[in-house]
Amino acid sequence: MKSKKHCNIPIFIPQLACPHQCVFCNQEKISATFSVPKPNEIAAIIDDYLETIPNNKEINIAFFGGSFTGIPRNEMIAYLEAAYEYVKDGKVQGIRLSTKPDYITDDILDILEKYGVTSIELGAQSTNNKVLLKSGRGHKFDAIEKAANLIRKRDFELGLQMMLGLPYDTLELAIQTAKDIVRLGADTTRIYPTVVVKGTVLEKMYERGDYKVFSLDEAILWSKEVLKIFNAASIKVLRVGLHPSEELELGKSLVAGPIHPSFKEMVLTALWGDILYEKLEKKGHSIVSVSSKQLNYAIGYKGKNRNDLKMKGFDINFVVDSFLKDFELNVCYN
Ligand code: SF4
Repeated sequence: MKSKKHCNIPIFIPQLACPHQCVFCNQEKISATFSVPKPNEIAAIIDDYLETIPNNKEINIAFFGGSFTGIPRNEMIAYLEAAYEYVKDGKVQGIRLSTKPDYITDDILDILEKYGVTSIELGAQSTNNKVLLKSGRGHKFDAIEKAANLIRKRDFELGLQMMLGLPYDTLELAIQTAKDIVRLGADTTRIYPTVVVKGTVLEKMYERGDYKVFSLDEAILWSKEVLKIFNAASIKVLRVGLHPSEELELGKSLVAGPIHPSFKEMVLTALWGDILYEKLEKKGHSIVSVSSKQLNYAIGYKGKNRNDLKMKGFDINFVVDSFLKDFELNVCYN
């Protein structure tokens, strides 16, 4: 039987009273840009979404945008109660939320379990203590490990998000973070290259020359390397890169950083470039079969892989083989 496609009803709850000041985050800007729905407004938002979602989808209510479990307890429960009504009557299948590792305790997990939460995403960002310290995260790696272990003991899906290129981060440390995320038993992850946003501590560091921002090429290379680790461990990657929004544009909120509308395609192009160079044994003409989902990435963003390989003497005809899984290929020489 074909599994149902997932669909999220997003409810954006930026954490207005976050006691931390992560160097990359401008809470004031976030809070000023988005109005935070009150718990008694949640039902109307969910009803509006439900009207537009076909009923063959698996639907989740997703609280995101801050540290959900860090908001005052009564308020958090009020949001959950509103969402849980829809789980109880079968209109949605679960509740997802994102939070900060040091806002997870057994007490909090008891509450989340009681109100039908199915998936918890932690902003791990890095597993290196110096990167965490320099980024103002307010906790060390042991908090990430402890939270992940508490979540894993129960029946939640665990997500561990990571950022690339935070202060003090290196490609080696980013690779270690990805390996730690695998070791901690994550089901899902998201990969976000760091960008410099106006009004942040990072902006000041950048202006003083204390922080070097990623080039697009560096961000693609790092993302590709961590993606390989997640693919090998069959961890579902829910997002690669930030989406450019009207607000996150150069000259507006974005000061500098690797944002591109086709960032994910470029990372997958680079990944497929490595796979093809590794697997191709003979120059000349060949037929390379890949899954239909991966065909465009194998050919490459704007045909990059096909063109680069042609320049090196590999004349490839890319075709679909629907029996192949993601990142598998067959090569036929003639
Ligand atoms: S924990 Fe950091 S990233 Fe999250 S809302 Fe607070 S300051 Fe921003």
